[in-house]
Amino acid sequence: MAQCTLKPDLEFTREIARAGGSSLKKCYQCATCSVACPMAPANAPYPRKEMIWASWGLRDKFRSDVDIWLCRNCGNCTDLCPRGARPADVMAAARNLVYRDLAEPSIVSKWMGSASGLKRLFLIPAVLWLVVWALRAAYNGQWFPRAADGRIVFGQIFYGDYTIDPIFMLTFFGACFVLYRGVRKLWEMFRPQGELLVIGRTKSWIFHLADVLWEEVLTHRKFDECEDGPTTGKAGPNRKTGHALLFWSFVLLAFVTAVVAAGHWVGKIVPVIHIETPMPMTFPIKILANIGALLLICGLALLTWRRLRLDPEQHGSGFYDWYLLGILWLVAVTGIFSQCFRLADAIVPAFLAYYLHLVFVWMLFAYLPWSKLGHFVYRTAALVFVRMYGRS
Ligand code: SF4
Ligand code: SF4
Repeated sequence: MAQCTLKPDLEFTREIARAGGSSLKKCYQCATCSVACPMAPANAPYPRKEMIWASWGLRDKFRSDVDIWLCRNCGNCTDLCPRGARPADVMAAARNLVYRDLAEPSIVSKWMGSASGLKRLFLIPAVLWLVVWALRAAYNGQWFPRAADGRIVFGQIFYGDYTIDPIFMLTFFGACFVLYRGVRKLWEMFRPQGELLVIGRTKSWIFHLADVLWEEVLTHRKFDECEDGPTTGKAGPNRKTGHALLFWSFVLLAFVTAVVAAGHWVGKIVPVIHIETPMPMTFPIKILANIGALLLICGLALLTWRRLRLDPEQHGSGFYDWYLLGILWLVAVTGIFSQCFRLADAIVPAFLAYYLHLVFVWMLFAYLPWSKLGHFVYRTAALVFVRMYGRS
């Protein structure tokens, strides 16, 4: 008879508890959560099995478990758990622990999980942009220079061609590379040893990716199946609207950035498309940028309000949740302040706000593979994986 040896790792159970799944021991395996989960397919239910793996400390099971990435953290299972074991929090905690091993160097994940680590993450870009500022100030002979016509122009200090553009290009492509390696690692972890049974594999991963992006990102249609509390009838601030607002604000701001970059760089060769910054407030691209900022603020307000209204007895909010919301708020607020101070001709606060804006935007991009925003990429990769192997 074949034997199966389980190797419990109690340290892993303790790690899950510390990462937010402290109530897991209350579970008595009734399976109500698996029935309540609107996302779990009937032939591969979750999160009951994850509850037992967590209490037995089966770290390896989690590493190869695709289901922790498919969970949308809607909390329906937690709402209906008769024991208050908070399976949604256990799923989130397990995901965060596996996540720590995906992006390298893993020390960044460790720093991201605590207030003291966060100080280090802040200091890196704070020093970087301060050095840029100091070098340029030494060259200009002043820290808060004005353009020849008396206007406040941030490029007088943070010169695009030699500082902002190369630093952000390097940061962006570096983050993409870390994410790419993380996704490859994740897919390797999902693949069981030996042959994988393929049920109805029909098309290449790229078409599955297109389907996932359409359903999950562009239309946010899947949120309708997993909105807060549909099973229990509880009304709550709408997660779908908040995420959709954030998504479309990112699209708009990315478009604006691309047009301004093209106007700047290509404009050196084709002067007719040259875009001068700062742009006038009535310039169409500037109007789009401000609409993007407004959508960002509205989306953030909705998601923050929803998270603050969650019952802490039922749904925990971890450091990862607050880090992402916090950094997005800081990016939005410093961006708006730097524009307002510039328009009000308040040069010192304008440069200070712009400096902080650069620090927080850099943090958003540079730490993306380790932050909750990186979940989006890994989750998309997991969804593509299950579709490639016949699950929806
Ligand atoms: S987590 Fe709750 S609902 Fe799920 S099996 Fe355990 S006791 Fe039952
Ligand atoms: S949080 Fe939602 S998606 Fe995740 S396991 Fe529970 S019910 Fe399913």
